[in-house]
Amino acid sequence: MSFEWKKRVRSVTPYTPGEQPKDTDIIKLNTNENPYPPSQSVLGVLESFDTEIYKKYPDPEAGLLVDAIAECYGVERDMVFVGVGSDDVLGMSFLTFFNSEQPVLFPDITYSFYDVWADLFRIPYRDKKLDDDFKIVKQDYMEENGGIVIANPNAPTGIVMALSDIEEIVAANPSSVVIVDEAYIDFGGESALPLVEKYDNVLVVMTFSKSRAMAGARIGFAIGNKELIAALNACKFSYNSYTMDQMTILLGKAVIEDKEYFDIIRGKIIETREWTVSELKRLGFEVLPSCTNFVFATKPGVNAGELFEALKRKKIFVRHFKKPRIDQYLRITIGTDAQMKILIEALEELC
Ligand SMILES: *Cc1c(COP(=O)(O)O)cnc(C)c1O
Repeated sequence: MSFEWKKRVRSVTPYTPGEQPKDTDIIKLNTNENPYPPSQSVLGVLESFDTEIYKKYPDPEAGLLVDAIAECYGVERDMVFVGVGSDDVLGMSFLTFFNSEQPVLFPDITYSFYDVWADLFRIPYRDKKLDDDFKIVKQDYMEENGGIVIANPNAPTGIVMALSDIEEIVAANPSSVVIVDEAYIDFGGESALPLVEKYDNVLVVMTFSKSRAMAGARIGFAIGNKELIAALNACKFSYNSYTMDQMTILLGKAVIEDKEYFDIIRGKIIETREWTVSELKRLGFEVLPSCTNFVFATKPGVNAGELFEALKRKKIFVRHFKKPRIDQYLRITIGTDAQMKILIEALEELC
């Protein structure tokens, strides 16, 4: 066999997600999942679910879920697009909106799926250096470009950009779509949603995976001008119409309607984050200001790669990126109070 077909293959280097170990006795602080269970309303849906539904194709527009999201955020239904996780929404947005010879712009340190989608879809891109405090430099996004993606708050830094700065970027780029990836906005910072009524070129992307404790169900959505949403739907329906199954549509609707529980768990995570930050500082760590459900921390004189391995041996999983500028940092997801206490005790022992 010569595998001659290989030279015609679309070869890509895939995104590397955080580990999902099989052990159940580990403390998993490596993929920014929510430590709390999802809303109890999920149980109601599962108990009353009519299995006959599976005979039929699901609603390709996921109308029930679109309506519930529109209601929750006070927008029209034709301003909402849903996808199978925000990764699906973001990927479809890259395919739809980034179709020019000009490079798409995003920070050098950010969600590491952006350059993967750009490579996959053959979209030229240019990454823009964060400043020495790991902040996004808004002037960098005022040059000619084929589109802009900004995670706000940014990952893995956790740092938020002011809404006024986001607005300046959107206003300066009327001929590009600006995607604001708000995977963590429910844990701090101001959402760019109000800009959607004012500018036709801003798309706000959110997810159920973090603040709504539904990473396993795969639900993400975008809110934008109805022309943007129509363009997204046209691409989606040209590729695969039935992406979200009927059960997930019902689960998503039930979860987003439980506002009370949502506020309780995100409030709790913010509280635990503040405690964790003060404990890490007490142990001599430098911690970037976080508006998310994780912290990005470094301890001068301690090798982060070795600390990552040492924590792993104690069955505490965090995330370490072997990348320039951030290889001495650990990204630690905020778990329950009990989990964070165990982490702090382990760190006290190790460094
Ligand atoms: C987690 C995350 C996503 C993807 O979330 P989904 O689980 O696919 O909804 C997108 N962007 C950022 C910055 C994230 O951290």
